[in-house]
Amino acid sequence: MNQSASDRKALIVGCGVAGPVLALYLQRIGITPVIYEGRPEPRDDAGFFLNLAENGTDVLETLGIREEVLKDGHESSRLVFQNHKQKQLGENPSETVLIKRGLLTKGLREAAIDQGITVEFGKHLTDVQIPHEDMAIAYFDDGTEAHGNFLVGCDGIHSQTRRSILPNAPDPEYTGIIDSGAFTRNDSIPPSEGVMLMTFGVDGFFGYQKVPTGEIYWFENHERKKAPDRAELDGISPAEWKEKLLRLHKDDYDEVTEIIRSTDGEIGKWPVYDLPSLPTWHQGTVCLIGDAAHTTSPHVGQGASLAMEDAIVLAKCLRDTEVVQDAFETFESIRRDRVEEIVKMSRETGNQKAPSNLVTRKVRDLVLPFFLKRGVENFEQIYSYRVDWNEPV
Ligand SMILES: Cc1cc2nc3c(=O)[nH]c(=O)nc-3n(C[C@H](O)[C@H](O)[C@H](O)COP(=O)(O)OP(=O)(O)OC[C@H]3O[C@@H](n4cnc5c(N)ncnc54)[C@H](O)[C@@H]3O)c2cc1C
Repeated sequence: MNQSASDRKALIVGCGVAGPVLALYLQRIGITPVIYEGRPEPRDDAGFFLNLAENGTDVLETLGIREEVLKDGHESSRLVFQNHKQKQLGENPSETVLIKRGLLTKGLREAAIDQGITVEFGKHLTDVQIPHEDMAIAYFDDGTEAHGNFLVGCDGIHSQTRRSILPNAPDPEYTGIIDSGAFTRNDSIPPSEGVMLMTFGVDGFFGYQKVPTGEIYWFENHERKKAPDRAELDGISPAEWKEKLLRLHKDDYDEVTEIIRSTDGEIGKWPVYDLPSLPTWHQGTVCLIGDAAHTTSPHVGQGASLAMEDAIVLAKCLRDTEVVQDAFETFESIRRDRVEEIVKMSRETGNQKAPSNLVTRKVRDLVLPFFLKRGVENFEQIYSYRVDWNEPV
């Protein structure tokens, strides 16, 4: 039996990026969404920052929430690449919004709540069941369960939804890079005027932008062949990590070490993972979107934008296709090639950040401008992707 959209209830697992955006689009087409978030309460100060590209912000524009959600973000109009001696290697005129992660997820969650969408916290999904073709059941670690006509896993890289419906699916794969991120203030660093400066350092890659409030948003990537376990990284104190980064960047131009040295607060550190291609993104009345379906490494700044694209495309498929399972099938067929290409491109971009000796550095400085030029064309293709809400699937 299939129901019209207006009789349907959707269970959405995860209130990060994809979850609230999907909920808002589903509500537009008359489906009742309920979001179940595993965290006991919102953590709007958690995480560091990300760049939201135009293909993502356009999805918010279509919902009419772009301005409100991104009001605390900062424009980034160009990426400029240079070597450790500040020789410019290339640039990329990509318009993005630099925003603190917690502020982005807060803005999205509040936009959903403002529209009357229910968000339940403390609902950590432990399993999913599909009793028949019109139902999905979510089980939570507080002993409760929720029933809906279908369920969408927006529960990120370590998705329990994915584990439940695809127990044999591959796990996320370590990419050989450790990522750090932090905020600082430092009067000796001039304002960036909207430019994110990216440096191929001698032993690591460093990016920063000083925004009009005076805050410097910075990140660092360096190679480590074997994945560290989380406990090992957590056991390293902020002071020790800062010393390590200062050592890695000691041969780079002064601003890099100056920014790291002036950072007093927390410095985030994560091993970077991406997700190998899954055999499928859906099973019966359950579908995966965002990082749950296709985690990408952060090197082309696209994960959150892709999660938003998924949300609008899936809602269109559910609007225009009577049978939920067919809508999921159509969704996957529309999305898979694009996102897997970006996951691959991001991994390759990350590989260029490997450390260098004198010879490889010289070669890199010669060839990189050509790669970066080609990269601009790829970036344009990625950023210019738009989903027309009114166009039928
Ligand atoms: C260091 C780093 C830098 C990045 N930089 C960028 C960038 O510059 N630009 C960009 O576009 N992307 C970037 N990304 C990627 C981006 O953060 C993700 O692609 C994006 O957040 C994916 O959105 P999502 O909604 O799929 O998952 P998430 O945002 O991870 O949300 C998942 C939600 O599900 C909840 N959840 C998890 N498990 C359960 C469960 N069992 N039950 C209930 N709830 C659960 C989580 O608490 C969370 O709220 C970066 C990622 C990293 C790690």
